[in-house]
Amino acid sequence: MSLEAFREEVRSYIAEHCPESMKNRTFHFEDAHEVYDTEDADKWLQAMAAKGLTTPTWPKEYGAAGLSFEENQVLQQEMAAARALPPLTGMGTSMIGPTLLEFGTEEQKARHLPKIISGEIKWCQGYSEPGSGSDLASLQTKAVVDGDNFVLNGQKIWTSGAQHADWMFALVRTDPEAAKHDGISFVLLDMKQKGVTIKPIQLISGSSPFCETFFDDALAGREDLVGELNKGWTVGKRLLQYERSAAPAARSKKKAKPANAYGVIAKQYFGEADGKIADKEARDKVSAQTMTEKALQLTVQRVFEESRSGKAPGATTSIFKYIGSSLSKEASSLKSFLRGSDGIGWEGEGFTEDEVEATRSWLRDRAVTIYGGTNEVQLNIISKRVLGLPD
Ligand SMILES: Cc1cc2nc3c(=O)[nH]c(=O)nc-3n(C[C@H](O)[C@H](O)[C@H](O)COP(=O)(O)OP(=O)(O)OC[C@H]3O[C@@H](n4cnc5c(N)ncnc54)[C@H](O)[C@@H]3O)c2cc1C
Repeated sequence: MSLEAFREEVRSYIAEHCPESMKNRTFHFEDAHEVYDTEDADKWLQAMAAKGLTTPTWPKEYGAAGLSFEENQVLQQEMAAARALPPLTGMGTSMIGPTLLEFGTEEQKARHLPKIISGEIKWCQGYSEPGSGSDLASLQTKAVVDGDNFVLNGQKIWTSGAQHADWMFALVRTDPEAAKHDGISFVLLDMKQKGVTIKPIQLISGSSPFCETFFDDALAGREDLVGELNKGWTVGKRLLQYERSAAPAARSKKKAKPANAYGVIAKQYFGEADGKIADKEARDKVSAQTMTEKALQLTVQRVFEESRSGKAPGATTSIFKYIGSSLSKEASSLKSFLRGSDGIGWEGEGFTEDEVEATRSWLRDRAVTIYGGTNEVQLNIISKRVLGLPD
């Protein structure tokens, strides 16, 4: 089929199947569970999963669409034009799926990928521990081989979405005697078992986007060891590269709601003169932010174009994560600045819905330069692995 015919087909499929409530909206990642926990979201998921379009470029043999680079570009353009939300988000499609495609056995791929593509199984990430964040390789959760299983004991923390997840991918210590990077393995485990206890952590905002996860003789099947025993650090690092290449501002090609564009907000609060934002400082800030975002999008596009060969992401994803997450924070700060005192509303009749959301976004965006490795950790990686500077 020609690309033009494919475009027509995709356009009419989206028009026919994407419910209005799944269009024309943005949401904060912390609210993803609520946004996707609706009948409309489920209809949209079913329609897209039926064609394998939830993970468009993954191989057909697992139920995905197997689209070429160019076909996927067309699909993304048509989704953006329709302002449609992705039918499926989360750690299944963005992190563990690509990692299994690269490191999983045929049996693991056949067992796990179809359930990721259909959205049937939700995943969470068991990396951080109370004493191991930036220094992740110091993790202490122990896994001991017992017959067909690994028996896990220990604790993970900041496990996003653990309370909604069916399965976890986790880094565990399988050889306590080895040097710290060498005794780690990468395992998959079912969250719905008696050895796993999940305690949501309540934030000051009232929401609980992440949890403490405790293992008391929890089981992971030996068939769910990904990569070799004690060589999990390599697998775990690659997964982080997939996570980092999906950093907020780096992946965002979709336009904000028109009412939320910087220029529109600036004109609303500072007024307009000759079609421009009336205030020079506001105008300068809006121009600078818009140009930097555009530059990042072009860089990301160039790197994706270069990756047509299917090469896995490398240490350069730390640049996307560093710039993308910093820009995302600057974007919400700019929106608060443009709104002045209306940009710090928390609740009450004096503030519009957009103003209250802007304050919450600004606060929640403090997290983007922390998760997936802090900005300082990204700078360390860029210095060592990209620029080749000495340790
Ligand atoms: C919203 C959110 C969601 C998260 N979701 C998950 C999840 O699903 N699963 C999961 O496993 N984890 C998750 N995390 C945890 C996240 O990965 C860690 O918070 C992060 O790696 C930092 O670790 P830490 O919090 O222990 O901070 P620390 O490592 O204690 O760092 C504290 C400060 O010291 C700095 N620092 C530390 N070491 C160095 C160094 N060598 N050089 C320079 N500066 C340094 C850091 O940059 C930081 O500013 C999440 C975190 C957040 C905020």
